[in-house]
Amino acid sequence: MTSLNTNKAEFIKSAASASDFIRSEIPAIVFSGKSNVGKSSVINRLLCRKNFARVGQSPGKTIHVNYFLIDEKAYFVDLPGYGYAKVSRSEKERWGKLMESFFAAEGLITLGVMIVDSRHKPTADDVTMAQWFAAAECPLVIVANKADKLKKSEIEPNLALIRTTLSLPYEVPVVLFSAEKGTGRDALMTEILKYV
Ligand code: GDP
Repeated sequence: MTSLNTNKAEFIKSAASASDFIRSEIPAIVFSGKSNVGKSSVINRLLCRKNFARVGQSPGKTIHVNYFLIDEKAYFVDLPGYGYAKVSRSEKERWGKLMESFFAAEGLITLGVMIVDSRHKPTADDVTMAQWFAAAECPLVIVANKADKLKKSEIEPNLALIRTTLSLPYEVPVVLFSAEKGTGRDALMTEILKYV
């Protein structure tokens, strides 16, 4: 199986509009999730870094698509977080335009990685995001993050609720994850490596 040397990770660019999106033969692993779900922490955990993708930046402030090149074999594409209540209407519009242009373009997504909070029912915004990935017809993996906050008895029902709320087809895996503890890191990397 292919491997990814996560020590070789570099920031490439922030794209603020469609003309800046990277079109390449190199597979694009596209990360999405609502603000504060732990998207940066998941990426950092995958890369065994502390502060590579920024953590805890003020939610909703960065409306960019960030590109990282990993081992010259894959782009990790960090979509701007969504669903933060306190952003202005103009920021929401900017987010919507940028995401519409991203999902409308062909061939920008090799694999979608959608991060949700394992403690809660996915939000309406999460459902919309899952529909965008479905419409893009790309393979998708769901990451149920913050699993360290779950009781053991909550795991199965919560994963089932995520699956039904997002109307996931059976082939879409849901990976129980804790960016904090490292749970699920290898399972998620295995899913990603199928496309690298
Ligand atoms: P982002 O806005 O989605 O990029 O989220 P961040 O990565 O900045 O994380 C938001 C907050 O959630 C931070 O305080 C993180 O420390 C925390 N966090 C992220 N992942 C986990 C996790 O797996 N478990 C717990 N308990 N907290 C987490």
